[in-house]
Amino acid sequence: MKIFDYMEKYNYEQLVFCHDATSGLKAIIGIHDTTLGPALGGTRIWNYETEEDAILDVLRLSRGMTYKNSVAGLNLGGGKAVIIGDPDKIKSEELFRAYGRYVESLGGRYITAEDMNTTTKDMDIIHEETEHVVGLEGKSGNPSPVTAYGVFRGLLAAVEEAFGTKDLKDKVVAVQGLGAVGYCLCKHLHEAGAKLIVTDIKKEYINKVVQDFGAKAVAPDKIYGVECDIFAPCAMGAIINDFTIEQLKCKVVAGSANNQLAEEKHGDMLEEKGIIYAPDYVVNGAGVMNVYEELQGYNEQRAMARASGVYEAIKKVIEIAKRDGIPTYKAADRMAEERIHKIGELQKIRFFNK
Ligand code: NAD
Repeated sequence: MKIFDYMEKYNYEQLVFCHDATSGLKAIIGIHDTTLGPALGGTRIWNYETEEDAILDVLRLSRGMTYKNSVAGLNLGGGKAVIIGDPDKIKSEELFRAYGRYVESLGGRYITAEDMNTTTKDMDIIHEETEHVVGLEGKSGNPSPVTAYGVFRGLLAAVEEAFGTKDLKDKVVAVQGLGAVGYCLCKHLHEAGAKLIVTDIKKEYINKVVQDFGAKAVAPDKIYGVECDIFAPCAMGAIINDFTIEQLKCKVVAGSANNQLAEEKHGDMLEEKGIIYAPDYVVNGAGVMNVYEELQGYNEQRAMARASGVYEAIKKVIEIAKRDGIPTYKAADRMAEERIHKIGELQKIRFFNK
């Protein structure tokens, strides 16, 4: 892999390799863009098959954070980190502290947080060595209720576009995945008068939603084809693909799952089918808004108020899509890039009074 060619193609700033022989730390920190502010993104631990896989993952994920943080309206750039190894075997105090020292060495250009296979406890250990870490125990806490509220607000904006009203009374929503976010989303939808058709691979999760919100349950492979108005994917990625698109009967796709489109062409196919797609990284952006609040002293009410803005963000995506005649997934990227450009241009207004 030609690393600098890749970095040049997508405008990356920095890629940092961190090694510590004593703890066995092998970490890579990717900083994609700091125009809007320090690069924030989580640290994931994964047993990559090759070093190239790890490099590609951190590059891809850090760039994704630039876009996500930008459309969330945050003063944050995009970054991400990976620690290479088996999460069940490599975790130790010395490993996280060694990693924390490397984060510290970047002087605040990168702020880390939890991600796949890291926990608030791990962040607490990193915090021994650096202030540039969020998602600590007892601070912003579990982001899922805030994420779910943001998804609900974004879903309303897409529903308003599709049906001319954001009244959910008697609208049928098919929810895939009833975990931390899915359950809370079901609660909001139920309270707004929607009818729920749900699925999960865990029977007990299904039972709870059926019991609490009067939902109808279907088998996991049946959720794509049910008669519904809205499909809310809240489980895994790549669920909008050649196989599922032809089954969809909804007018809106809006859910928390990351990387919903198997390939970009599936975003075009949704558009051709007349389905309003609320782009994943816009509609699930309240998770990062929640940790952002921690940087200014966490306040749950403020986090919820910010999450409410996902409604306006999805409205804006739809507006750009119409303005430029492009599908919403492309409009989201454009919205992110426009904000980075416009805010970056502010640097031209210089101060001479210091
Ligand atoms: P979770 O693990 O708590 O819930 C996921 C649920 O999906 C589980 O109940 C699981 O059993 C179910 N599931 C897995 N495979 C399934 C299948 N084939 N069919 C049906 N259900 C299946 O995770 P979560 O925190 O609720 O996150 C859900 C999604 O939202 C993930 O893609 C996550 O990356 C994304 N997301 C979450 C947050 C957050 O704040 N938690 C923020 C942004 C994005």
